[in-house]
Amino acid sequence: MADYDYDLFVIGAGSGGVRASRVAAAHGAKVAVAEEHRIGGTCVIRGCVPKKMLVYGAHFAEDLHDAARFGWDLGEIKFDWKTLRDNVNADVDRIEGLYTNTLENNKVEIFREAARVSGPNEISLASGRKVTARFILVATGAWPVVPQVPGAELGISSNEVFYIDELPRRVVIAGAGYIANEFAGIFHALGSKVTVVNRSDQILRGYDEQIRDRLFQISTEKGIEFIFNTSFEKIEKKADGSLCVKLEGHDPLDTDLLLYAIGRTPRSGGIGLAEIGVEIDDKGAIVVDEDNRSSVPSIYAVGDVTNRIQLTPVAIREGQAFADTVFGNKPTRVDYANVPNAVFSSPPMAGVGLTERQAREQNLDPKIFTSDFRPMRNVLAGRNERSLYKLVVHPESDVVLGVHMISPDAPEILQVAAICIKAGLTKAQFDQTVALHPSMSEELVLMK
Ligand code: NDP
Repeated sequence: MADYDYDLFVIGAGSGGVRASRVAAAHGAKVAVAEEHRIGGTCVIRGCVPKKMLVYGAHFAEDLHDAARFGWDLGEIKFDWKTLRDNVNADVDRIEGLYTNTLENNKVEIFREAARVSGPNEISLASGRKVTARFILVATGAWPVVPQVPGAELGISSNEVFYIDELPRRVVIAGAGYIANEFAGIFHALGSKVTVVNRSDQILRGYDEQIRDRLFQISTEKGIEFIFNTSFEKIEKKADGSLCVKLEGHDPLDTDLLLYAIGRTPRSGGIGLAEIGVEIDDKGAIVVDEDNRSSVPSIYAVGDVTNRIQLTPVAIREGQAFADTVFGNKPTRVDYANVPNAVFSSPPMAGVGLTERQAREQNLDPKIFTSDFRPMRNVLAGRNERSLYKLVVHPESDVVLGVHMISPDAPEILQVAAICIKAGLTKAQFDQTVALHPSMSEELVLMK
């Protein structure tokens, strides 16, 4: 090991890179990490964390509206975007500080600059300095895709949305996946007129169809507009500073903000990987084996840059498994089965395990149980918004293969349901569990 400057050099201090750095250092490795933006990566700085805070902020709109039905007279209600934005960003700064402290406390050296791989064991830093490492871990994440059309630079991505100066009166969102539906809910609640534009005729491809249909129905009833089966032709800036979005086969849309949410592509380019023979697939992902090792034995990769499951907790597990395997003498592989997920739309959705369609594709002929109900709170609030829970059950073994839901607090409820799925519990065992009344989650054990 003494032949190298470091035992491990990590490129990218996001969720996967920070976990791998910290754990490898705790195992006794000499570790350095390079980060050209901010410590914490997409999730902490411009993703999950600030997004969830905006979701909380936006939810007050419904809560304050409903408050009157619960006897509260709040007088005139005003919303100030800058207050929410600045408080969110201040907390992001705080969390970035915590992440930085964690690295420093574990004696991980931080290079706040871009790094590229210039050999199987060599890294070139933007400052011109070259260092060597026994192992290199690429944890550079993914980057928002921007459509290749004239005027595309007039739109923004989720990287910039947390910093906008004003709350836009009108928002057009390109794409209908996770980010599109989350920000459609946020902007709509805060008072913007939202139009979601997608290339296909569906939202949230791959999600359980009944659940996402319910989100579509609720979103449409709220006043979010959807335009399907179209693509962007051109974006122009108008004299008043607003934008005109030209769509194929559809009337142009005038808007104050255009947000791209059409997927995120692995950030594997421009860091020297192809030049030294690291295999990259046709989507730009670094090809790795079950131990996160690339085609060059000294180079590993974890997280979104490998395009396995683009979720923070998965990247963290991969970083941990890498560090334990390579430096902790504890070979560990990530189990990708039954990873829970959530869309923080309004209302939120969450799911784990097989969807009904996936079960049918496996010729399972699953038993399906659903509970379609109006939460007590919505009833009292006069809010005609129904929740839907769904269980996908194996026809012979009775094992619950999937849980899918759209409901207030669905992500909070689903984490526990995910333990049941991971444990392989049967529908009979769900039914043997006494309901917790009155709650929404009791529906999980009352489905007939
Ligand atoms: P998604 O993959 O969720 O959705 C992409 C959307 O854009 C789809 O509607 C898709 O259409 C459309 N699309 C894809 N490519 C193009 C293209 N070239 N031109 C036009 N439209 C296109 O991407 P997001 O950007 O919303 O999010 C990226 C990833 O980040 C997610 O997949 C998820 O893994 C992660 N994420 C997770 C969150 C969470 O856990 N809550 C929150 C936010 C992001 P089509 O209908 O054809 O599929």
